[in-house]
Amino acid sequence: MKFSEITGHEGLKAQLIQSIREGRVPHAQLFLGAQGSGNLGLALAYMQYLFCNQPTETDSCGECSSCSKIQGLAHPDVHYSYPTAGAKQVSTNFIEDWRQMVSEHPLMNVGDWMTRISKDENKTPNITREESRDILSKLSLKPFEGEAKALIIWMPEYLDKIGNSLLKIIEEPPQKTYFILVANNFDLLLPTLSSRTQLVKVPAYSSEQISEHLKSSYHLDKSRAESIAFLAEGDMRKAIGMVEDVDDNYSDSFRKLMLACYQNDLSTVSSLVDELAKLGRTQLQLFLQNGLKILRETLLYRSMDDYKIRFSGEHKEFIKNFSRSLNAKGIEECYTAINETIYHIGRNANAKISLFQLSLALRHHFIRKKVKA
Ligand SMILES: [Zn+2]
Repeated sequence: MKFSEITGHEGLKAQLIQSIREGRVPHAQLFLGAQGSGNLGLALAYMQYLFCNQPTETDSCGECSSCSKIQGLAHPDVHYSYPTAGAKQVSTNFIEDWRQMVSEHPLMNVGDWMTRISKDENKTPNITREESRDILSKLSLKPFEGEAKALIIWMPEYLDKIGNSLLKIIEEPPQKTYFILVANNFDLLLPTLSSRTQLVKVPAYSSEQISEHLKSSYHLDKSRAESIAFLAEGDMRKAIGMVEDVDDNYSDSFRKLMLACYQNDLSTVSSLVDELAKLGRTQLQLFLQNGLKILRETLLYRSMDDYKIRFSGEHKEFIKNFSRSLNAKGIEECYTAINETIYHIGRNANAKISLFQLSLALRHHFIRKKVKA
């Protein structure tokens, strides 16, 4: 990962680069930052810069053999330790999952990771003693390329507490061996371990940074981006999650509401509106935005041959059925009505009343014939 791929943290990036350029690379560092701060990404970018064959003043080149191997998390001299599930496991058993998760979700938290590697929700994350031994044996080898070796330990909070054999090597590391610990919570680290590292504090993102990122990468409008940024409390992962998960969270509710409107079932409409009004303004706007997305898909499905619907499972079936109960004009009118409701809710209109009025209005746009949904 290049530094340029990481949002924000410009001052810290410059400091890290400068320390490498001046040859001041501590042998053990702790990249400490809260969840969603991007500390793993920064550690990876730092490592890539350190190993890059032709770094510039501001970033690694991203193209040399070293960079491409580190980008693929496949450099023979850069090792990774991270929590695993189950006794006697070592991290390399999960290296393929690790490569994929880091490249797709560099802001992942330990919960995301455990869901990926274990179906058992109650499995406790652990960096086992076997893993410590495995790391020691890897670090005792001569470097395959160049002169340096490195180890990134992600979530050292989960290092097996008994007889940890990594301590000694961190205290007396072999020459040109670098350790980077990437942690969320200082208080959960073995004091014997954290005391041997130099602290790199990765600050949480500011609301402005999060909202800028949401606007540029997700094309959110200013007010939505700001509302989500406010709710995310500095956690970029949480912010992105709120934008991306919106399909899963709200498509189901939208489907139910549309069905009740179609069936003229006002008592169901009323109880759904009661539930939805509890979401709060921002989430309610997201719910409606997602409704617009469903309408757009419906319109495209109606008007284009072989259109591939960008929803899956029952939502896809719903869109197919939905498209038969609305004509193009009806879709357009629903779209306008929903858009106006988003506008009013954003400007402090009563959520419950707005949503109920919207539902009443939507009822008139359906073409009523027997539709299964
Ligand atoms: Zn390079």
